[in-house]
Amino acid sequence: LEIEPVDLWRLLRASGVKYVKFLIVDINGVPRSETVPIDMAKDLFIDGMPFDASSIPLYSTVNRSDFVAYVDPRAVYIEHWQDGKVADVFTVISDISDKPSSLDPRRVLNDTLEQVRSKGYDFLMGVEVEFFVVKEDNGKPTLADTGVYFDGWNVTVQSQFMKELINAIAEAGINYTKIHHEVAPSQYEINIGAYDPLRLADQVIYFKIMAKDIAQKYGLKATFMPKPFWGVNGSGAHTHISVWKDGKNLFQSNTGKITEECGYAISAILGSARALSSFVAPLVNSYKRLVPHYEAPTRIVWGYANRSAMVRIPQYKMKINRFEYRHPDPSMNPYLAFAAMVKAVMKGLEERREPPPPTDDIAYELTNAPETPATLEATLNELSKSFLATELPSELVNAYMRVKQNEWEDYLTNVGPWEKTWNVITQ
Ligand code: GLU
Ligand code: MG
Ligand code: MG
Repeated sequence: LEIEPVDLWRLLRASGVKYVKFLIVDINGVPRSETVPIDMAKDLFIDGMPFDASSIPLYSTVNRSDFVAYVDPRAVYIEHWQDGKVADVFTVISDISDKPSSLDPRRVLNDTLEQVRSKGYDFLMGVEVEFFVVKEDNGKPTLADTGVYFDGWNVTVQSQFMKELINAIAEAGINYTKIHHEVAPSQYEINIGAYDPLRLADQVIYFKIMAKDIAQKYGLKATFMPKPFWGVNGSGAHTHISVWKDGKNLFQSNTGKITEECGYAISAILGSARALSSFVAPLVNSYKRLVPHYEAPTRIVWGYANRSAMVRIPQYKMKINRFEYRHPDPSMNPYLAFAAMVKAVMKGLEERREPPPPTDDIAYELTNAPETPATLEATLNELSKSFLATELPSELVNAYMRVKQNEWEDYLTNVGPWEKTWNVITQ
């Protein structure tokens, strides 16, 4: 359903919205926003909203700082969990000469999907977002509950918070299939989708905004950090993928075995995993999640019903309709990560390479299977050599590599608490 931005503005005003929050998603997947009273917003809906792009990492430099954010009328959400008087609209970015910015993650994903559609394909994707709900104890994040997997008992602090969060998700029109307490204490999971990848990426960002905002009301913090606590499971963002052609799901099978096309897609995902990692596991901390024994992948293998593999085939009785890529974590920039996954799957469908045989073994115990990169630095090296570096806009890949390389160098030279605890005492 397409609507002109100015008609959307009229609709929002007529429905009692008092403020419009323009959302820009930066290269790290962090939402930025500017809030404008509805009566002042009409021209911005028509002509775009100017902003200082040099103050958002890597969009631009201080001498070329004026950029414009255009409302995407397909991506509007009302803050029902507040008083319903604020509308949040996602935008797409251009420079002042109206040249589309290739550093805008939403644009990159949108363009990728348009290319794919022009070849007759459609993607449907879903994400399982895992997160911790923590409280602050003397400035230190601590666990807020002692619940376990599927807890039906010990969700005390969170129960009010969860009730409100679930309501907010439903009112935002986000299709989620379930929410449950995850394996680690204070860890939860919500399953969003399936959707067109652009819509899904918006919803992942919007969900994070809601969860963080509502948690604050209860003196809690929702965190999507991949491995906030050592010694317990980290948080993943397993992504489910199916590809459609002529209204038919190419991965649909009733035989208990994957289709040929699904195999080609898996083959390419596994083949690009070491580079994809830069987008799906983008933080220094992401690599502390990707270690043995916490249900996160360490070996680049696939399997049926195997939660230690990087790709798992979810199966209901004998029916299969998608594959699950278990490598991503919720700190990913979903636009860039989905664009990279879509590119990899399309490469697979074009190259038609059979995947290796599925693995039944516990992947952590394998010794000769390829490994996920051990650090952010390792995956950045892989990205620079990968087809992704040429398939995605080069301006974007260069900027992304730069911001991530800086992050890695910062981490390497920083003196952290682990060293302080051990080396001050022992040396
Ligand atoms: N928390 C695990 C991860 O880091 C996943 C647990 C599950 O299978 O849901 O990916
Ligand atoms: Mg889970
Ligand atoms: Mg899963």
